[in-house]
Parts: sequence; C-alpha cells; structure tokens
Amino acid sequence: RAKLSGKGQVVYFNQQLHDELLHQHRLSERLERAVEVGELCLYYQPQVSAISGRIEHLEALLRWIPAEGLPVSPAEFIPLAERSELIHRIGDWVLEEACWQRAEWRASGVVLGRIDINFSGRQIKRSGVFDHFEACVERYGLGPRDIGIELTENVLIEADDGTLAGLRRLHDRGFRIAIDDFGTGYSSLSYLKLFPVTSLKIDRAFVRDAPKQSEDRAIMEATVFIGHRLGLEVVAEGVENREQLELAREMRCDMVQGFYFFRPMAAPGIERLLADTVRDSRDLSG
Ligand code: C2E
Ligand code: MG
Ligand code: MG
Ligand code: MG
Repeated sequence: RAKLSGKGQVVYFNQQLHDELLHQHRLSERLERAVEVGELCLYYQPQVSAISGRIEHLEALLRWIPAEGLPVSPAEFIPLAERSELIHRIGDWVLEEACWQRAEWRASGVVLGRIDINFSGRQIKRSGVFDHFEACVERYGLGPRDIGIELTENVLIEADDGTLAGLRRLHDRGFRIAIDDFGTGYSSLSYLKLFPVTSLKIDRAFVRDAPKQSEDRAIMEATVFIGHRLGLEVVAEGVENREQLELAREMRCDMVQGFYFFRPMAAPGIERLLADTVRDSRDLSG
C-alpha cells in the first residue's frame, strides 16, 4: 500500500515490517522481565574426544524458558538483546552461572574439563570485559582449564586493537579461545595469524553436507590441515549421524559435538550422564 504524504512523496506503509517491529518490541519487553524473574537457564552440550569418545568439555548454551509460552531460542533473543545494554546483564548472568556450576561440579567430584561460554560482538566490545571475566573465574576458585570462550569469526574481525590485546592476555594466561562457526564469516586465512585463539570449530553446515558434497569435505579437510599446522585444536560441530562422525575421525578432527552424541541438556542431565560414564569405565576396567 502506498499513499501520498504532505510533501508529495510516496510513503510506503509496510504491514509486514510493522508487525515485525511490534513483535520485536514485545519480545524485548518480555526478555527484560525474564532476566529479572530468573527465566533464563543454561543448558550444556558435551564436547567429545573424536578418538576416545569420552566427554571432555561442555559448551554452555543459554535457554529462555518462560513460565508461560514456549521456549525462545537464543538465535532469536540474543540478537535482540544485542541491540541494547540488556546483552550485558544477560552475559554477566551467563558467566556467573557457568562459573558457579563449574565450581559446584568440582566440589561434588564430577570429573570434567571446561565449560565454554559464547560471547557476542557487543559483549566483547564492553570496556573491562576481560578483567571482569578473569575476576569472576577467580572468585569461584577457577582457572584457564575450567572456563573457555567462543567467538565467531565476524566478532573477531570487528574487534579493535584494545579488544585483541585483551584476548591476547587471556590467551597468554592459558585460557582457551575458540573461533565458532568457522568458515562462515568474512575473515581470510591470514587473520588466523592475528587472532589469539586456540581452537577452530568447523561450522555445522560443512559437517552436515560433507558426506554428500565433496566441496564441503574439502573445506573441512583444509580447515583441519591449517588448524593443526597452526597448532590449533579442531572441533567438528553439529555431528548428527554415524557418517559425519566417521568423516570427522578420518580427517583427524580432535573433538566432535552434536546431536549424534548428546543434545544440550540442563545440569541434572549432565550429572546423570557423567555418573553413567564413570560407571561404564569402571565396568570396563573391572
Ligand atoms: P553456537 O555457539 O554455534 O551453538 C551451537 C548451536 O548448534 C546450538 O544452538 C546447539 O543447540 C546447536 N547444535 C548442536 N549440535 C547440533 C546438531 O547436531 N544439529 C543441529 N542442527 N544443531 C546442533 P542454540 O543453543 O540454539 O544456540 C544458537 C546460538 O545462540 C549459538 O550458536 C550462539 O551463537 C548463541 N548463544 C547461545 N548461548 C549463548 C550465550 O550464552 N551467549 C551468547 N552471546 N550467545 C549465545
Ligand atoms: Mg558456540
Ligand atoms: Mg557454533
Ligand atoms: Mg552459531
């Protein structure tokens, strides 16, 4: 629909755009309340050794589970939160919760490596973000082996010198820093020289299509090759079936993560899982 405005210009009134803006506005109001009333929770997805099949680490994945209504995906609400300061309140909560949970599991004897946390672009640009990160990790009596960071390529490209220096400091102290969704961003390989990272997570789109598409296989192989040549750990994301797992293994990926092994789950699910794993390995040895 179009109508003539006072100045004689044609103004388009787009119902779809209007609905979308309204939807986002309502959603961000609900999200703000959700943070206040504690409707956020962390799920954890195991990262499994490609060689031994053992659970080594976990990735923390945020969930918003409203008291009423359906769960909202972080793919929908993180970009929304990114438009305001709300992302910082959410990010602070995630960091605190993950540290608390890691310390809690240590105290109760759960055998586990790191919990890796996702950071968005705006979070990483906030001043003092790395001091805050380290302070929180320390406050829970944790260190670089306990909590890691995941950043996408595009977030890294947009990082300024100060941010890169902050990341480098964490890297020098031994913290693990992964490039998430690797291969889908706009960086060139030369950036790998610049970014202080320890791991590459091959985006699940390549892993998904690798069994059928030789191009995806080639990209995966090349990623593993360059990653290993640079001394980085390589993780295959989104492994959903046996075929994809076999390929990831043949290509010498170090770690695998995906629904074929485990879906993201709440803390009690992880506890049951790890208790079973310990029992299984005892069965084997006894
Ligand atoms: P991501 O960091 O790349 O996380 C992996 C996503 O892939 C997760 O979606 C996970 O549930 C999903 N996934 C894992 N294995 C499989 C599989 O085998 N098949 C398929 N189809 N999917 C799989 P999720 O939990 O919906 O998260 C989406 C994105 O939201 C994340 O992508 C991350 O970018 C962002 N996100 C999640 N939690 C946080 C957070 O605490 N902070 C920030 N800043 N971003 C977060
Ligand atoms: Mg991630
Ligand atoms: Mg990813
Ligand atoms: Mg992603």
